[in-house]
Amino acid sequence: MFFDHIEAAPADPILGLTETFKNDPNPKKINLGVGVYKNEAGVTPILDCVKQAEKLIFETETTKSYLPITGLPEFGRLTRELIFGADSELVDGGRAVTCHCPGGTGALRIGADFIKQQNVAAKMWISDPTWANHYQIATAAGLKFERYPYYDRATHGLAFERMLETLNQAEEGDVVVLHACCHNPTGIDPTVEQWERIADFISEKKLLPFIDFAYQGFGHGIEEDAQGLRIIASRCKEMIIASSYSKNLGLYNERVGALTIVSADKETAARVLSQMKIAVRTAISNPPAHGEKVVTTVLSNNELRALWESELTAMRERIRNMRVLLVEKLKEAGAGDFDFITEQNGMFSFSGLNKDQVEILRKEFSIYIVGSGRICVAGINAENVDALAKAIADVIK
Ligand code: PMP
Repeated sequence: MFFDHIEAAPADPILGLTETFKNDPNPKKINLGVGVYKNEAGVTPILDCVKQAEKLIFETETTKSYLPITGLPEFGRLTRELIFGADSELVDGGRAVTCHCPGGTGALRIGADFIKQQNVAAKMWISDPTWANHYQIATAAGLKFERYPYYDRATHGLAFERMLETLNQAEEGDVVVLHACCHNPTGIDPTVEQWERIADFISEKKLLPFIDFAYQGFGHGIEEDAQGLRIIASRCKEMIIASSYSKNLGLYNERVGALTIVSADKETAARVLSQMKIAVRTAISNPPAHGEKVVTTVLSNNELRALWESELTAMRERIRNMRVLLVEKLKEAGAGDFDFITEQNGMFSFSGLNKDQVEILRKEFSIYIVGSGRICVAGINAENVDALAKAIADVIK
């Protein structure tokens, strides 16, 4: 027998939670587990700019033949413009090369494959905690990983000094994975001054930054959220970026992400690109077209681009407003000071709730939160916030 020895994998904690949520008959149930944006009505909408781009594509598309291995060149250029800024020499200068990968996940995996295949490095340093897939992707690609501390439970902030102390053990040539903004799961990002220190540290220690940029525009704005990445780019000649359009264009199931690699000069970049193509070819042959065409259409059409920016602003502001409202309601409910929630960025918040409290919230109040206490703030709305705040106040008493 070939398969007899196979043991059942542990259930994915977040997907398992969604299943239990679906089966909960309580009409007042609240799901703060999932990692997708929801509007005030609790719906994950298709953006208007996307709908309009899809209409244009539908009317003009003449073939479903394969895209180039790296995707459309214009998609790569627009992606670089977004991450490095329109004025950056990295957009057209030839040092940075980009390929479309299926989602941020695809970009992370193909980036890790490239590192392994090309003997770029053997070890990755990944934050603790992080989006759990980071650890699995490193392992699946055949890379070793170590964790560096990130979250300070006492201050609900960044464990900055401990992070650098631990990274001091990294050896020259190791890779450091950083979240560009809206750190998942904590919502805590370095300040500009901290980014500068991180960038100096990485460049002095000759480490390779691998930046996961899954939430551009969800923190403070498209340009603001790229600040840390751009500081790193100004100090480090080489870097890898895995970016995603899942969240900021709401293209979750279309799988649009990008892997961008920056080399010290354009001759090296051309060789890197030739090997990135092999990594893509081996994993997926060539990318799916629809989402990539949507992104290219939205970003290159002035009207749709302006519409996208306003829709993205609305999503970001809704999340910010919910943070403020939750903190207010928690105060009103006598839960004490949760001000740190308004300091965090993006869709997620480390609430500080422990496993037992999370369990009581689920069993007694039909409120679904991941065991770590991570809350998806986008799941909060004006209708459920009162009940949520009261329940939290109750469990932490
Ligand atoms: N990185 C982080 C930090 C994420 O939170 C996610 C999505 N949850 C991803 C990457 C992957 O996103 P995608 O859906 O584009 O693969």
